[in-house]
Amino acid sequence: MTVALAPERPVAAPRADLPILRERGQREVFCGLTGIVWLHRKIQDAFFLVVGSRTCAHLLQSAAGVMVFAEPRFGTAIIEERDLAGLADANEELDKVVRQLLARRPEIKLLFLVGSCPSEVIKLDLKRAAERLNGTHGGVRILNYSGSGIETTFTQGEDACLAALVPDMRAEAAEQLLIVGALPDIVEDQFRRLFAELGIARVESLPPRRAKDLPGIGPGTRFLLAQPFLGDTALALEKRGAVHLPALFPFGVEGTTAWLRAAADEFGISSAHFDAVVAPGRERARKAIARHAERLGGKSIFFMPDSQLEVPLARFLANELGMTITEIGTPYLHRSHLAAELAALPEGVQISEGQDVDRQLDRVRAARPDLTVCGLGLANPLEREGLSTKWAIELVFSPVHGFEQAGDLAELFARPLVRRDRLTV
Ligand code: SF4
Repeated sequence: MTVALAPERPVAAPRADLPILRERGQREVFCGLTGIVWLHRKIQDAFFLVVGSRTCAHLLQSAAGVMVFAEPRFGTAIIEERDLAGLADANEELDKVVRQLLARRPEIKLLFLVGSCPSEVIKLDLKRAAERLNGTHGGVRILNYSGSGIETTFTQGEDACLAALVPDMRAEAAEQLLIVGALPDIVEDQFRRLFAELGIARVESLPPRRAKDLPGIGPGTRFLLAQPFLGDTALALEKRGAVHLPALFPFGVEGTTAWLRAAADEFGISSAHFDAVVAPGRERARKAIARHAERLGGKSIFFMPDSQLEVPLARFLANELGMTITEIGTPYLHRSHLAAELAALPEGVQISEGQDVDRQLDRVRAARPDLTVCGLGLANPLEREGLSTKWAIELVFSPVHGFEQAGDLAELFARPLVRRDRLTV
């Protein structure tokens, strides 16, 4: 089917009534290396070589677990003390490690050199290293990005990785829809089926599952962000002529419907056809969410800043499960990507951007919410104080997007409350 791209899209007006507290103090977040945990599963012929310290290696190994049956597709080239002291040529050492790795792993088609705090401290230029190594290993594309913990949050690692892929996308004039963000394959397939049923013939994904499937890009490309933390990637795509379709993010019935509708409107799909295609999924999602509404309705929730998913998740929990939002902390508030989300939040909800962890913990203790969403480091101390917690990182690792996962998403928040009730019986 041929499609007529709509010339203009409505953009949600920014909300003036939302009080936004800006904090610039100590933060408690993981670094961008964490993204490798889900990215290496998504791009099946890529390898992520962190150029870092033993601390970086430990973080990755403990976050990603041990692979028993397959060799992992990530590793750390450890910068030793003599490298830090400038006694060895770190570039020569890196070239040697890459040579050995690619000789041993011929299935690797895309190699990311991932920068870390130590590589940035010694000013190891991984961009230049990638350019140099690209010429010497035919058939393997070598790119670089930074996963360093300086001034980042853990989901920014995915943003940096995807942004690094954009310059490699070939020019493509055809009209197409691009789904941007690493989704579990099963979720991506569900969305692709829905777009096909809607009549959007050409749908691509960034990142691709295999390096050779990196899609093209051009002025005919319209893209939907599947995650709210992809600001640099969106900017890079726009520079290549692609057009962002602003929408709620696809969490819950409301978010998933709005996200799909943004594409349907753009590609000229009629309202009647749209409603017919999405109705069964919406109904299943509604029923699945309803099972958790009794447990979650009226309960209060406090989001510490962590994954950047906080605003869309709070919108889902408030609007579809009746939770009361005590505070939405987010490391960074992308006002234009989150405009529709902010517009859909309940009136007057407190938002904080950045973090001053001690002051924020004081607010948690004063409010004593029913549930606090936070990083692993804060969860145990809060549990000891009798507060129920949810690990924010679990929300990034779990399939939570779309109609079919809406019930599981609600259950992730209900589970700590069920556990608390069992313990207090
Ligand atoms: S990149 Fe920095 S913050 Fe992350 S594990 Fe390595 S040293 Fe720690």
